[in-house]
Amino acid sequence: MRLPSFCGGIHPPQNKELTVNKEIENYLPTGELVFPMAQNIGALNEPVVKKGDTVLVGQKIGNNNAFVSAPILSSVSGTVKDVGMRLTSCGMLETCVVIENDEKYEKDLSWIPLPNYENNDPKEYIARIREAGIVGYGGATFPTAVKLTPPDPKCIKWLIVNAAECEPYLNCDNRLMIEEPGKIVKGLKLLMRLFPEAVGVIGIESNKPEAIAVMKEELKKQNAFKISLQPLVVKYPQGAEKMLIEALTKQEYVMTALPADVGCLVLNVRTVHQIYEAIAEGLPSTTRVVTVTGDAIVNPKNIRVPLGTSVRELIEFCGGFKEEPAKIISGGPMMGITLRSMEVPVVKGTSGILALTKKSAHLKEEFACIRCGRCVEACPMGLLPNTLNKVVLLRDYVAFEETGGLNCIECGSCSYVCPANRHLTQTFRDGKVTVMAINRKAAGK
Ligand code: SF4
Ligand code: SF4
Repeated sequence: MRLPSFCGGIHPPQNKELTVNKEIENYLPTGELVFPMAQNIGALNEPVVKKGDTVLVGQKIGNNNAFVSAPILSSVSGTVKDVGMRLTSCGMLETCVVIENDEKYEKDLSWIPLPNYENNDPKEYIARIREAGIVGYGGATFPTAVKLTPPDPKCIKWLIVNAAECEPYLNCDNRLMIEEPGKIVKGLKLLMRLFPEAVGVIGIESNKPEAIAVMKEELKKQNAFKISLQPLVVKYPQGAEKMLIEALTKQEYVMTALPADVGCLVLNVRTVHQIYEAIAEGLPSTTRVVTVTGDAIVNPKNIRVPLGTSVRELIEFCGGFKEEPAKIISGGPMMGITLRSMEVPVVKGTSGILALTKKSAHLKEEFACIRCGRCVEACPMGLLPNTLNKVVLLRDYVAFEETGGLNCIECGSCSYVCPANRHLTQTFRDGKVTVMAINRKAAGK
C-alpha cells in the first residue's frame, strides 16, 4: 500500500544510525545553568527573581501575563547568580537568569498531580499546561495552552501527534516513543477529553519500525480505539505542520489557513508526553531529550537534560570531539542554527546538537543562480525560492511579501538542492524578520 505524503520535498541522507539504538541517558549538570527569557513564540518573559534569591526545581523564574506566552521554570535548585545579558543559540545576547547549581535538585513541592485529573473538567488542563511552561518541542515553541484553545473546540476533528521526526540525525522523539510510549498515549487520551468530536492520529515516518511497533502495541494495550497510527513516507519536511495535515487528512491546505481552519490541531510527540507528565505526575517543563550526534562526536547519545545546561557540558558528556568540528548546529542539519559558541544553553526548542567534521559539513562556495528550477520543484510550500532570494538581496521587501515570502517555513529544502549553493533559506529568514519588523513599525507597535 502506498503511504501518504505531500507534494514537493527532498530525500536527504538520514544519518540516524549514530544514535538510533542509544537508550536515553539522564545527565545532571554540575556547572551554572542559563535560562533565556525568550523561549517561546509570543510575548517575552520578564525575570521574576533577582540576584541572590534561592530557587527550587520547578520554581517560576520568568513570566509574562500576555495570552501568548509560557513561563520559564528553573530546572535546578540553587542561587540566582545573575540576571543579565548572555549569548544564546541564536547568536544574540538575550536577557537570561543564571543559576548557580547546588546539585541537590530540591523540588518545589507545590508541583503535584492535578487532583482527580481523569474525571475533572478538562478545561483545568489548560491552566496546568500553561503554568508548567509547555510549548511545542518540535522547534516551533508556540505556547501549547494557546494552541489548545481554538475559537470553537467542536470544529477540531483531528488531533494529530507529530512523530515524523523527519530531520536527519535526530532520534530524540524516536527514542521517547520506544522507551515511554505509555505516557504519549495517555497524554493524547487526556487531550481528547478537550475535543470530543476529534479522533487522534499519530503520524510516524516509516523509517522508525521499532517505534511504530511499540506505539501500535501500546494503543492496543490501552484500548485507544479512537486513536490510529499512520506510517508516513520518508520525505523531508514530512514533519512540517502543513505537510503532515495534507498527508494524514488528505485535505488540500491553503497556504494562509491555520490548522484549526481545516479541523486539525497538531502537537509534537514530546509535547504530548510532557502534557501527561504535567497533569498526571506533577512534573513541569524543566527537562528535554536532546540527541547529541555527528561524526565529530566521540560517543553520540540521546540525553535527558535539565533545560539551561550548557552545550559544552553535553558535548563533554559524550566524550568530546574526535577531531575539530567544522560546524556545530543546534537542531538538525536542515532547520538548525549554526552555533558560534558552545557556551550557550539548551532551551525548550533544542532537539539536537550536531557536530560535523569538515568532510560532512559540506561547506561550499556560493555561485550565481543558473536558473535550473530545482529549488522550485523542491519547495513544499509552492514558492519560488530563486525569485525570493533575488528580491531579498535587492532589499525589495514589498516584493518579498507579495511573492509569499512570509509563507516560507524555513525548511531548507531549496538550499539543499541548489547546485549553485545559494544561501536561500538564510536570506528568507532575514527577509521574514525584516518584513515583520516593518509591519510592526507601520502598525505603531
Ligand atoms: S522557500 Fe522556504 S519553504 Fe520553500 S523550500 Fe525554501 S526554505 Fe523551504
Ligand atoms: S536551485 Fe539554485 S541555481 Fe537553481 S534556480 Fe534555484 S537558486 Fe537558482
